[in-house]
Amino acid sequence: MPSNLPQDIVLAIKSVVGDAPLALHEPRFNGNEWTYLKECLDSTFVSSVGKFVDRFEDDLANFTGARRAVAVVNGTAALHVSLLLAGVKSGDEVLLPALTFIATANAVAYCQATPHFVDSEDRSLGMDAVALRDYLSGTTEMRSGQCINRGTGCVIRAMVPMHTFGHPVDIDALLAIAYDFHLHLIEDAAESLGSTVAGRHTGTFGLMGTLSFNGNKTITTGGGGAILTNDIELGKRAKHITTTAKLPHRWHFVHDEVGYNYRLPNLNAALGCAQLEQLPDFLRNKRRLFEQYQAAFAEVHGVHLVAEPAGCRSNYWLQTLLLDESHADQRDAVLAATNDAGLMTRPIWALMNRLPMYANAPKAPLPVAESLEQRVINIPSSSGLGSVAP
Ligand SMILES: *Cc1c(COP(=O)(O)O)cnc(C)c1O
Repeated sequence: MPSNLPQDIVLAIKSVVGDAPLALHEPRFNGNEWTYLKECLDSTFVSSVGKFVDRFEDDLANFTGARRAVAVVNGTAALHVSLLLAGVKSGDEVLLPALTFIATANAVAYCQATPHFVDSEDRSLGMDAVALRDYLSGTTEMRSGQCINRGTGCVIRAMVPMHTFGHPVDIDALLAIAYDFHLHLIEDAAESLGSTVAGRHTGTFGLMGTLSFNGNKTITTGGGGAILTNDIELGKRAKHITTTAKLPHRWHFVHDEVGYNYRLPNLNAALGCAQLEQLPDFLRNKRRLFEQYQAAFAEVHGVHLVAEPAGCRSNYWLQTLLLDESHADQRDAVLAATNDAGLMTRPIWALMNRLPMYANAPKAPLPVAESLEQRVINIPSSSGLGSVAP
């Protein structure tokens, strides 16, 4: 009998998560969420100041090992401010993977800078360090200590690797490139809360790292984000310009630069504190779900589950199927069959260079990103799924 890959995939997923309809990723609120939110309401501290903001920042720093965490309204704002603080300005270029969520590219555009797209690798789905070093060696030159794109004449100021679906990129190799080419490195760790490289938390390797607590992420504050840094002065600067750059005073309104109203409200931070308490549980559940899916897919030919790179721990935020190249033409049939069966699945993002506003941005050859774009499918990934499966 000829095998029917879309149906085989539906059956493999159902063997782990059961027959009920499932979203791709749903939040879980089984901890102190109601208690902390009630405390906010009872105290009237629902907005821009309150004890949960400070506590959430401390808890995040403790969990990640960063010296400072600054809570902000969302992950996009965290990226925007990190790029500004890294000195990214009008006319600069910033290297980032073509295969990422739109926020990474938009944050660069908010600085009047230009995203410069580079290729990804199969292993982590993130920036390919080997291809990047080759590419920069062939297309840039150093002038007065700055990395210049010979094609455009612009300064390449920074790079923003992203840890795709929680799988850590080859951060050591990228840090070495950043050092050699005089680039600031900012990690988009929006998807990788709980993921580590050699025991160290993603988002703590570069000058700054950014997190997101959007509703679909590993933990949620409704909407929210954070900036991580080990540089205490930068942390202070981040807090200052995300809170309207107001100088502390009992009644005067003195702002010493153009700041942003990017602070996270206390209500959202309260949710974050409760969610963070459950994060170790979520991570255990997600790892177990990965193992169960991996077992279920062992006998399905033409597709495999993306596993954490060697030496790394992934948070397994979104479970990821990768079709073999020989089966890439089946992707849309798989998406249709799974969604028809009530199992929400999604392809990966369209490459950034295909979008109208970034179509003319500079880019490296993107053979791997173009292949991955056709072959990735995310399957139901909420924490708590699969626990009662055989
Ligand atoms: C979620 C996400 C962000 C930030 O998103 P917000 O919705 O602004 O919090 C940034 N980059 C990536 C890769 C993301 O997945």
